Amino acid sequence: MTKFGEDSPGESNTERDRLAQIRRLDRSSLGDAPDDDPPPTRRGPAPAPGIAELVELKAASPDLASAVDLQIELLTIEHRIQARVSLPTLDLDADTVAVALARGLPLLRFEQIPLDWSDVRLAVREIADALRRHDAIDADDYATAQILSHRGHDLESLAAAWYAGPAALARLDAPPPEMLAELIGLALRPSLRRCADAFGRAVDWSSWRRGRCPLCGGEPELATITPDAQRLLICGRCHARWPFHDYACPHCDNADKARITSFASRDGRYRLYGCDGCRRYLKAYDARQGTRPALVHVDSIATLPLDAAALQRGYQA
Ligand SMILES: [Zn+2]
Ligand SMILES: [Zn+2]
Repeated sequence: MTKFGEDSPGESNTERDRLAQIRRLDRSSLGDAPDDDPPPTRRGPAPAPGIAELVELKAASPDLASAVDLQIELLTIEHRIQARVSLPTLDLDADTVAVALARGLPLLRFEQIPLDWSDVRLAVREIADALRRHDAIDADDYATAQILSHRGHDLESLAAAWYAGPAALARLDAPPPEMLAELIGLALRPSLRRCADAFGRAVDWSSWRRGRCPLCGGEPELATITPDAQRLLICGRCHARWPFHDYACPHCDNADKARITSFASRDGRYRLYGCDGCRRYLKAYDARQGTRPALVHVDSIATLPLDAAALQRGYQA
C-alpha cells in the first residue's frame, strides 16, 4: 500500500522519487492552469488561474459583470485557502482502486479529505460575506452561515452529510437550504481540488465511464471536448475530469441521439446538451474552438446565457 503525503522509512527509491515529483508538481500546481505562474520577480502569491480570463470576459460581456465580480471574489478565496491545504494521504493499492472503479464506487472517503476545520470555518465566513456583498444570499442563510462558522461540530456533521449526497442531507433533522449546502461545497472545494490533483496524477480514470465523479461521486458541472474530440466530464465538487460518452446524458445514461438536443454558442466555443429523457442539461467547453483548456470558474460564468436558453426550453441544470 502506498501512501502519498507522508514519509515512510520503508519507501523504495522509486516511491521516494515519485513522492518528490508529486511534491514538486504540487508546489507548481495552481489548479486548472499550472503554467500560469507569474514571473519570479513578482511579489506576493500568484493570482488564481482564471482571474485574467474572468477580467477579459467582463470586458467582452458587460451584462455578465456582476456574476464575474462575485466569481473573482470566490475564486480568490478558494485559491488562497487551497495553497494552505496539505497533500492528502491516499491509500492507493492497485486492488482497492481496481475494485472501486469496477464497482462504480467513488474512491475518496470523507475521512481522507485533508480538512483543517479552522480554515473551513474561515472559508464559510469569507464566502458568506462575499455572497452578501453581491446580494447572492438572503439574510436568514447568511445568519445561519455565521452561526455555523462558529460551531465546528455542526459544521463537520453538515459537511459529512453534504459529501454523502443529497439523500443524506435530506435525512438530517434540519436539512440546510440549497444556498447553504452550496456554501458548504464552496468551503470544502480547496481541499477537494487538492485531492483531485493528487489522485488525478496517481490514478488512471480511463476505465470509468460513468456519469458521476470517480473521485468524490459528485455530478458533472461542465464537460470539455478535447482537441482530439474526446468528451471529458468535470466534477462540480472537486473538478476531477474523466472521459465519457460523446453525447450521452450523464444523469440518466440516455444515449439515444434523437432524444438529445445539442446546440452551440455563436462563437462555437460552448455547447449544450439537453436530455429529453430526464430533462436535465450539461454545458461543454469545446477546446477545439478555443485557445486554452477548460477553466471551470470561467466557463461556468461565460455560459450563463446558455443556461438561460436551456431553462427556456424546459431543461434543468
Ligand atoms: Zn469530484
Ligand atoms: Zn438524461
